[in-house]
Amino acid sequence: MSNSPHAPLLPGATLGVFGGGQLGRMFVHAAQRMGYRVHVFSTHRGSPAGLVADHEHVGALSDPRSVASFAFSVDAATLEFENVPTESIAVAERHTIVRPGSHVLHTTQHRVREKTFLRDTAGVPVGPFAPVNTLDELRAAADRLGLPAVLKTAQMGYDGKGQRVLRDPADLQPAWEAIGPGECILEAFIDFRREVSMLVARGAEGSCEFYGPIENEHANHILDVSVLPAPETRPEVTDAAGRIATAVAEGLDAVGLICIELFERPDGELLVNEIAPRPHNSGHLTIEGCRASQFEQQVRALAGLPLGSPESVAPAAMANLLGDLWFDGSGAPREPDWAASLSAGASLHLYGKESAREGRKMGHLTQLAASPDDARQHVRASRQALVDG
Ligand code: AMP
Repeated sequence: MSNSPHAPLLPGATLGVFGGGQLGRMFVHAAQRMGYRVHVFSTHRGSPAGLVADHEHVGALSDPRSVASFAFSVDAATLEFENVPTESIAVAERHTIVRPGSHVLHTTQHRVREKTFLRDTAGVPVGPFAPVNTLDELRAAADRLGLPAVLKTAQMGYDGKGQRVLRDPADLQPAWEAIGPGECILEAFIDFRREVSMLVARGAEGSCEFYGPIENEHANHILDVSVLPAPETRPEVTDAAGRIATAVAEGLDAVGLICIELFERPDGELLVNEIAPRPHNSGHLTIEGCRASQFEQQVRALAGLPLGSPESVAPAAMANLLGDLWFDGSGAPREPDWAASLSAGASLHLYGKESAREGRKMGHLTQLAASPDDARQHVRASRQALVDG
């Protein structure tokens, strides 16, 4: 049912989202602003999205009866989290429209299927890779691709979890013992200048709108700061990024919002690292920075309405707020200095999470400025003001 043409779902209809995290919460905000009711499927009561939804359905994503009853209660559903079991999405598709559908999840939940799709179906550039299912296959793949290389689990990895860099032949066995056994992928280590992302929205009738490249800086494998537009990007790199984004969304036959994470090499060549069939942390700055945000595009695509304009309002930067900010150097709890930060001009987003933990995404700040570098500098200063006052 996911991609069959149907009349647009107009404001007043009920939209569903699988997953109760911050991405779901910002989807709820965008959908409610446009007059939709929103039901959230979450695994615990009081989730960030559930707190602001019209209804929070609590259940296990692996429970087909719970998924079916949720699907039955909404006119269409999307997801904010790609590791929803594909079988559950297939169950939901019997009762409602699901965008993006189970065919998209099937591809993007598995790194080997995803990379093979990117190279062979979408025809976009990816680094050399090999599927690896045994230590012998790992040895053969390392011989073929050379070292350094990165060993990753084929499924369920995120924020650098489930992966190891192999620099020396002696690293192979310990890495296999830590990451395997099970399906894995070995990727050649890419020498990149920076990491960028593209967000692409694809409407029900097949049109695409995209944002980016967005420049992403990570700290401890977690996204730290994003900047749009990525500074000092040659026009031909921006054009190539747009072609890649469209080829991926069309190749997947996805309706909804897709994030494409890329490596930009020193010579400007782009290689796709991975894709996520949902809004992305690097796109949060589109809320203030663009005419239509990534979440509004997700609502419009799901409802079958025309997409909005991704046009930039001003250069924008986003800084994540991790739980670490709620503790001082000695580990004692403290309240971030909100007044000091807000007086520096940032827009504050907090996700309604009850308790702060190290590394937990609690919220983010966005700042617009005259240039992307100014936006980055200002948003960093606004975040620093949370601890310095
Ligand atoms: P991923 O979970 O695939 O997004 O990987 C997490 C991070 O590890 C990326 O953001 C990169 O910084 C780094 N990384 C992943 N794959 C590679 C690779 N093939 N070569 C170099 N760095 C990588």
